[in-house]
Amino acid sequence: MSCHYLRNAACCVGKLAAVILLIVVTPILRADPAAAQGNDEAYTAKILEFTTEPFFLTPYVDHLPESATVPTPLDVLGHIAGAADVLSYPEEVDEYMRAVAAASPRVEVYSLGRSEEGREMILVVVAEQETITRLDEYKAMLAALADPRVTSEAQAEQLIDSAKPIYWATGAIHSGETGSPEMLMELVYRLAVEESDFISSIRDNAIVMVTPVIEVDGRAKQVDVHMAKRKDPDANVPSRLLYWGKYVAHDNNRDGISLGLKLSQHVMRTFLEYKPTVFHDLHESASYLYTSTGRGPYNAWVDPIVINEWSNIAYQEVREMAAFGVPGVYTHDYYDGWGPNYMFWVANMHNAIGRFYETQGAGDGSTRVLRTNVERNWSRPNTPLPEVMWSIRNNVNLQQSTLLIAMNYVAAHRREFLRNFYRKSQRSVAKATAEGPAAYVFPASDDKPGQQARLLQLLQRMGVEVHRADRSFTAEGNEYGAGSYVVRMDQPYSRAADMLLDKQYYNPNDPRPYDDVGWTLGPLYGAVTVRIEDPAILSQRMTLVRDAIAAPGGIENRNRPVFLVRYNADNNLAAFRFAHPELKIAAAERSFTVDGIDFGAGSFVIRSEDNAGDLAPVLEQAAARYGFFAYGTSSAPDVPIHPVVTPRAAVMHTWSNAQSEGWLRLGLDEYAIPYDYISVQDVRDEPNLIDKYDVIVMGPSSDDALSILYGVTGDQPLPWRSSELTPNLGAQDETDDMRGGLELEGILNLANFVKAGGTFITIANSSSLPTHFGLTPGIGIKQTPDLWARGGVFRVQLKDKQSPLAYGYGDELGVYFNTAPVFQAQSTGGRRFGGFGAAEAAATGGPGSTTARRSGRGGSDEEDIVQGRPRNLGQAGVEQSRSDEPGAATERRGDAGAVASYRTVFAFATDPEELLISGGIMNGQEMAGAPALVDVPLDAGHVIMFSFNPFWRSETLGSYALVFNALMHHGNLSPAVTDEEVAAQSSGATR
Ligand SMILES: [Zn+2]
Repeated sequence: MSCHYLRNAACCVGKLAAVILLIVVTPILRADPAAAQGNDEAYTAKILEFTTEPFFLTPYVDHLPESATVPTPLDVLGHIAGAADVLSYPEEVDEYMRAVAAASPRVEVYSLGRSEEGREMILVVVAEQETITRLDEYKAMLAALADPRVTSEAQAEQLIDSAKPIYWATGAIHSGETGSPEMLMELVYRLAVEESDFISSIRDNAIVMVTPVIEVDGRAKQVDVHMAKRKDPDANVPSRLLYWGKYVAHDNNRDGISLGLKLSQHVMRTFLEYKPTVFHDLHESASYLYTSTGRGPYNAWVDPIVINEWSNIAYQEVREMAAFGVPGVYTHDYYDGWGPNYMFWVANMHNAIGRFYETQGAGDGSTRVLRTNVERNWSRPNTPLPEVMWSIRNNVNLQQSTLLIAMNYVAAHRREFLRNFYRKSQRSVAKATAEGPAAYVFPASDDKPGQQARLLQLLQRMGVEVHRADRSFTAEGNEYGAGSYVVRMDQPYSRAADMLLDKQYYNPNDPRPYDDVGWTLGPLYGAVTVRIEDPAILSQRMTLVRDAIAAPGGIENRNRPVFLVRYNADNNLAAFRFAHPELKIAAAERSFTVDGIDFGAGSFVIRSEDNAGDLAPVLEQAAARYGFFAYGTSSAPDVPIHPVVTPRAAVMHTWSNAQSEGWLRLGLDEYAIPYDYISVQDVRDEPNLIDKYDVIVMGPSSDDALSILYGVTGDQPLPWRSSELTPNLGAQDETDDMRGGLELEGILNLANFVKAGGTFITIANSSSLPTHFGLTPGIGIKQTPDLWARGGVFRVQLKDKQSPLAYGYGDELGVYFNTAPVFQAQSTGGRRFGGFGAAEAAATGGPGSTTARRSGRGGSDEEDIVQGRPRNLGQAGVEQSRSDEPGAATERRGDAGAVASYRTVFAFATDPEELLISGGIMNGQEMAGAPALVDVPLDAGHVIMFSFNPFWRSETLGSYALVFNALMHHGNLSPAVTDEEVAAQSSGATR
């Protein structure tokens, strides 16, 4: 009680102080609030009505200027921005923006493109009229500043005089964070009509771009849910969204590395077109407004200038808001600034400034009591209050005021920001010969040209230039064939490429990471990348590739009766197979050689005698499209074969969480692998699953098997479907009642499905389900209390070359793993799996068990490099290193295993020191040698469990084919083995 009383007392003191501050400070700072321009009195009255406290107002938003021509949100939508209990649909926001554009010569609206569900994303551009009419010239100026190879310093200085920085603000990427689209409508109006010096300066000296809703699909669903209750108090709608976009929810802003989602693709393309100086993403989760700087360890590949710019702008915002007496505005907190997977990193990757806010949430738009409990500390001297009334208008006030401060600051210091932009671009070009590396080579000898092409395409989509070697060359002692691709580091976007291709090292003793800590794309895509430090490579003869890179394909010996296709786990081969279900294709169960060409196990054998019609034209067209060679021969190889099937597949989801499994669907859809999308309830209610499906895949879901069993709870039915009040729900799947889970019936149905010959695949934590309920005898999940293995790239080693799951893969693979689950043999009569005991591992030291170096670029045994200056500044040259080559052979093999009823296809590296490819690790002995991909036969069927996640954020294209293999070889997962192999297995050798 006394505590409560004290909180209230403190609250009152705080209010009083803030009011006094407001009175004292406001008249001084608010020098000329557009004296000649009147206010829209009705609108202004509503601003004051919906703001709960005077200290949540600033001079920038405590009024709305009137305009004789330009409509306000109140005029068009019937409510002001931040009116209580109202949220606007994306199409209403668009309608408003287009109304402003129609009325104001200072505003234009462009389409950014459409979402997966077909909704439009827009780009609003605001500037003074002359700038709008000459927008292409201003874009050209920024493009010139972006490329110092064609723009001299003297030319740059001239451009800096006339060019204008672009400030791009984006709203509502996170659907539950609802205030920004409302705020951005008012911001656009204010920028278009207000004549105060403060606003005019932004309009005259900068160009503002606004995308009011990034996640248009999620916003539509969110407004459905929040407004339904207001339209009908009896409406029965879910309190939160299960789905936002077609694929993922909150993870939609973690797609910046691989651009799997339309929203990321549209933002990237538009960014490269306009080259904004600042990109600013609006979020809501902190009291009352956090402006991003992060607290490190900062990304080791950006120019230190950009890190300074984050702080520079943030300090201005915090300083001004504090001076206005607004409590709770702060910086230096909240996230690390390490990973480039956030959408706003589109800017940081490209020499611009990427930033975000976390404002106190607007929620469903209602006004409510807000309690916070934040102790004052060095980064939060101005704490939020213990208790206030909070409204969506407060949210609009804080976001808008602070954003205007940032825009005004960038406009006022436009020369400095443009000069910094040019300088950062210069230093990116100089990187090749200063801090290095000089280039990355994608060798022509890579045996996965399709995967290589896919990664290079991604770099191209990020604006990175890719060259092709005109002839063979030697670099750092290695020979690379003609046609090898070279990503030069003497280009403006070298940092984007280096950031994605280099290795990361994150020291676990650094502040807790906010997200993934390793993402090296070469291993994750299954492509060989070689980091070259010697600048001599830059003078090799090479040609810029202007078209989208694709793997070559074709047909040889077209008049032969049998065609062979080398299987290399290229995702496009699965795409080809599923695109032609009518083709009879067999897989070779052993490797073989024909006409001196080696074909690995899993290679396709396509025989005329099995197929009607002429194969050659079909294969010729497919080979060109999917990038493979069909090699004609007179007879099939003398090896055992089995059919490559196109099974009836289903992806099973829960009604509790559909976030991570969305990345699985996205990967399947990219390669047009067909599947039914079913819920745990469908499985619960279908005793004869085998009549419908051959393979059921469960994406990542929950590490608690019982929560999958029980599912969603509640007192009354919870529909997820389209209705009059919720027209946007139900797009992915529908139900009248989300309550309940898989239930024991579902477990039984799954068990019967597998026993009858079905294949059940679980990914990452969903493996809790089959292990918990006894569907995987002999293997379970191990407790790893001391393991630190945050999302990163880890090394797995091939243990079972016979398994069709491994077709096309080499001895090693880089996979995405995050913390859990770690599998281990369970005592079903065999001995304990794994020969590497904890005590033994601890004694070896190294990165598996110690923390050897600071967070930075490179592997755990490499040196960090400071960006933006010569590598040898004050230090001797360091030992050269190469990026990881996942295909490289290694002699180190697992040496122990139980007599198990399951097959370990891949296991984590046995040596803790070799586990980590990119990211961080501590106590790696807890996962070293653990089975990473297992195949558990159960009667006639199989349960396949992944410890790592083969479908993570479109970053893991090199492990997609493990699941594709499971699909294509369903029914043939246990090919016949030789007598020797059987003998070896029963004597306890590793499988
Ligand atoms: Zn957010």
